[in-house]
Amino acid sequence: MLTDTHCHLYLEQFAGDINDVIWRATEAGVAKMLVPGMDLETSREAIRLAETHANIFAAVGYHPTDMQRFSQENFDKICRLVEHPKVIAIGEIGLDYYWIKEPEKRMEQRQNLLPHLELAKQVNKPVILHLREENDAWFGAASVDLLNILADWQKDLSGALADKPGVLHSFNGTLETAQKALALNFYIGITGPITYKKADRKREIVAQLPLEKLLIETDSPFLAPAPFRGKRNEPANVGLIADKIAEVHRMTREAVAQITTANANRLFGWEAYA
Ligand SMILES: [Zn+2]
Repeated sequence: MLTDTHCHLYLEQFAGDINDVIWRATEAGVAKMLVPGMDLETSREAIRLAETHANIFAAVGYHPTDMQRFSQENFDKICRLVEHPKVIAIGEIGLDYYWIKEPEKRMEQRQNLLPHLELAKQVNKPVILHLREENDAWFGAASVDLLNILADWQKDLSGALADKPGVLHSFNGTLETAQKALALNFYIGITGPITYKKADRKREIVAQLPLEKLLIETDSPFLAPAPFRGKRNEPANVGLIADKIAEVHRMTREAVAQITTANANRLFGWEAYA
């Protein structure tokens, strides 16, 4: 049994065949899928998918590159969506210094991230974090800023959320950044680029991360793993990422699938929904 803890199934790329996509995922052994929103509208769409499919769960929030309509009024609506029983996390939230370069806009991203973190604390649900550096660097200001914000937030957490505060989704940073996130009890999300030919450094980093802290995610429709690189990605491909992690960790695919699914169950607490 596999899990895809990050797929944007409401995007237009899936408009024509969403039911086939979900069917193929189930056929491929994907037991549960997590669909994170990127603003108010897509958060609502994620919930709609979760309401119509037993194996789909939702997260709600404003993605750092989708802040155009962020307002107190819209954030209040996000706060109400969180009450939905199939909303099991806050996300996708975080920092993106790749697309956003103006210092004021970056400051705005950091400011808008804070109420999301506060909300997660209030409702006791983990966060799904996006982190992207300028020029897709391994390390830079975005990592520094995000780790500082998370360390600050973590200090006030208690109970279950302190032990499992969230996941650094589609991790593309250094081993040091991963270790700092692990020290704050965060999970690390692994996506398709780990399968790419020239990704040796990425594989070396993943080899040094504890399997008990990894999640496997497609980020569909983006980041299709080899041999589908450049094509539309879908949750059924999550097994290709599991295969690569298995190779890197010298384990069987079954063991990787079982451990990462248990990790997702622990973080999101969604086992109660069969
Ligand atoms: Zn995403």
